[in-house]
Amino acid sequence: MLELSNISKSFGSARVLDSVNLLIPPGSRTAIVGPSGSGKTTLLRLIAGFERPDSGQIMMHGKPLFAGDQFVPAHQRKIGFVPQEGALFPHLRVGENIAWGLSGSRHEKRERVDALMAMVSLDSKLAQRWPHEISGGQQQRVALARALAQQPSLMLLDEPFSALDTGLRAATRKATADLLTQAGVASILVTHDQKEALSFASQIAVIRHGRFAQIGSPFEVYSQPADEETALFLGDAL
Ligand code: ADP
Repeated sequence: MLELSNISKSFGSARVLDSVNLLIPPGSRTAIVGPSGSGKTTLLRLIAGFERPDSGQIMMHGKPLFAGDQFVPAHQRKIGFVPQEGALFPHLRVGENIAWGLSGSRHEKRERVDALMAMVSLDSKLAQRWPHEISGGQQQRVALARALAQQPSLMLLDEPFSALDTGLRAATRKATADLLTQAGVASILVTHDQKEALSFASQIAVIRHGRFAQIGSPFEVYSQPADEETALFLGDAL
């Protein structure tokens, strides 16, 4: 459903992404794993449409999102984005955060917000709270609900669980993975946590210095790492 071909991006003289190719099948779960500074967030921002690549092509459902001078802006991409933290507007209540960008009557919006909250297993009573009055795990579920409200066919998750403590982190990750699978939404999870990648993904892409060292199933990447550096990196997950 999404195909990146020869995507490159530099900031000043630093080449952050170097001819990257990536294929995202419909409904799949991909984890992009790699050390800090390897280009993971930049790649997500290019897919979301927050940045333009210097060269290459991004196709979604066979149509160009970026190719030459064609550029589809972020709000027209049907791509959801959940960042690490701070995704919610602090001056809007939980329900208003989820309803942000929805069209329709007040009543229609309320029904939609209720349905979205149920989808992410949040009690609809929380709709009246302010973001700072709910837990970190609940905030991430609200961010996910708000992203799902736009009915994306692709969800980008940029280390969305890293601010949560260990127990909550695993539970929120599993709930998110199940929800996206049920909704048939493909996802790309960026993480520097190898364990998280192995438990979340159907496809793992290992990135280093702006290039993919390996792309494969968790089993392939874990049992047959492409090189010693990848083996050492994944070995840290044990
Ligand atoms: P990761 O998500 O893997 O930690 P990033 O994509 O955030 O990596 O960053 C990759 C490199 O690009 C880093 O060296 C970072 O400093 C640089 N970088 C990212 N965004 C910008 C920007 N807007 N301007 C200049 N340099 C940037």
